[in-house]
Amino acid sequence: MFIETRGNDGKNSQKVPFSYAILNPSASFGGLYVPETLPKITQELLEKWTDKSYKEITCDVLKLFNIDIEDDVIQEAVNLYDNFDDGKNPTPLTQIKDDLFVNELYHGPTRAFKDMALQPFGHILSSLAQKEDESYLILAATSGDTGPATLYTFSNKKNIRVVCLYPNGGTSDVQRLQMTTAEGKNLKVIGINGNFDDAQNTLKSLLSSATFKAELARQNIKLSAANSVNFGRIIFQIVYHIYAYIALAKQQKITIGNPFYTIVPSGNFGNALGAYYAKKMGLPVEKILIASNINNILTDLITTGVYDLRERKLLQTTSPAMDILISSNVERILSDKYGSKRTKELMESLKNDKYYALTKEELEKLQEDFVAFYSDDLFAKKIIKEFSDKGYIMDPHTATCIKAYREYKNKKIPYVLCSTAEWTKFAPTMYNAIKEDYKHYSDKEALEGISKSLHVEIPKCIGELFGKKVLHEDVVGKEAIEPIIFDFLKRTN
Ligand SMILES: *Cc1c(COP(=O)(O)O)cnc(C)c1O
Repeated sequence: MFIETRGNDGKNSQKVPFSYAILNPSASFGGLYVPETLPKITQELLEKWTDKSYKEITCDVLKLFNIDIEDDVIQEAVNLYDNFDDGKNPTPLTQIKDDLFVNELYHGPTRAFKDMALQPFGHILSSLAQKEDESYLILAATSGDTGPATLYTFSNKKNIRVVCLYPNGGTSDVQRLQMTTAEGKNLKVIGINGNFDDAQNTLKSLLSSATFKAELARQNIKLSAANSVNFGRIIFQIVYHIYAYIALAKQQKITIGNPFYTIVPSGNFGNALGAYYAKKMGLPVEKILIASNINNILTDLITTGVYDLRERKLLQTTSPAMDILISSNVERILSDKYGSKRTKELMESLKNDKYYALTKEELEKLQEDFVAFYSDDLFAKKIIKEFSDKGYIMDPHTATCIKAYREYKNKKIPYVLCSTAEWTKFAPTMYNAIKEDYKHYSDKEALEGISKSLHVEIPKCIGELFGKKVLHEDVVGKEAIEPIIFDFLKRTN
């Protein structure tokens, strides 16, 4: 069963099953749902998993949680890993130094790690909607990677419609085309004049608009969310951390039972939360190393115990998926460590005073599991160049992890670095790094340039984007959103 991070307001149930938590992800007082208890992973189980496939391990982990989803639905959801480059090994673990391994999480259909969770999650959510015979609208605002993965997973799914808002000019060409060429009569993609904050604010004002809510009620449409605060995504993000450990064992780089470090390039903290839950369940993670760019609010929290938004402004970097100041999933760590009463207090302080501070004891508890580092765009550029010269291509988000790897050298144990995007999604930055220049390249020029100079193929799903028909042409101001969505709902009724 699932409980709430900020306690219960007396209107919601005290405890809800998984299906309820994923269809209705917002909990009392603006909180989130978290599992009441975590299942345990024993050493015997880890040993048993060395003979199992990714899909089998995923099914086993979901069964340990004892969630109210039928076995055949789970099996169908997990079978979607067949849409990855290699369904048998969707997250290859590649060794790049004696003690450094890359957990490549980007081999899915949209080439970023969002597919790891959104692929199976999309299937489970739409199965539930069909079973309930309810119609759901999913609203998403994206800075670039969540949008494509959400559209891809829900395309033509019954009982689900998706409206996706993206900042026009705020994404890479590849990311924009992945959205504007998305096929599926249940999908609507709208560009917003402005940046990611504007897209997110537009979404927020929609959610509080009386006319919008009335129209949804009239048409009997319920709202849900597919962002990383939905526990239905987090549960799938536990698995790849476990699988990386199993892969280390299979490559004979670790003996089951011995510890390893994991390094996570973090934004909304979903990926890191998956690692934290895996650790608490019994996976021998020695420490979770959190990597950030110069929007280093997580570095501050984990090193000083202070979360302070007062003097902060969001800075644009070449790792845009980590350009975040309010990192939603941190709340789940707070509630796990300090309880719901304290979490409510801290989150209210963040909302009202744009600030909270942990006590010394609380900070120590946080540091038992986490340590944090940050780096700037110049560092990422140098790292991309250095590694590509040695034959390994990593994207700008992944490159931030190398800072943590170099600075944190406590024990001689393996480091597993989570790689969250393929180079193809951020090609102009990659090409600047490789050529050591500052020229402005289009995505297409950069993709072709890199492909030639590093002798790598551009995956078909990326290359063909440039010739695809744009199906979603709307780019509008905030005020024009409602009528466009109403028209879409009417047409797709
Ligand atoms: C979403 C994303 C991240 C951040 O992941 P969180 O789970 O939100 O911390 C990092 N890198 C890339 C490429 C992403 O798309």
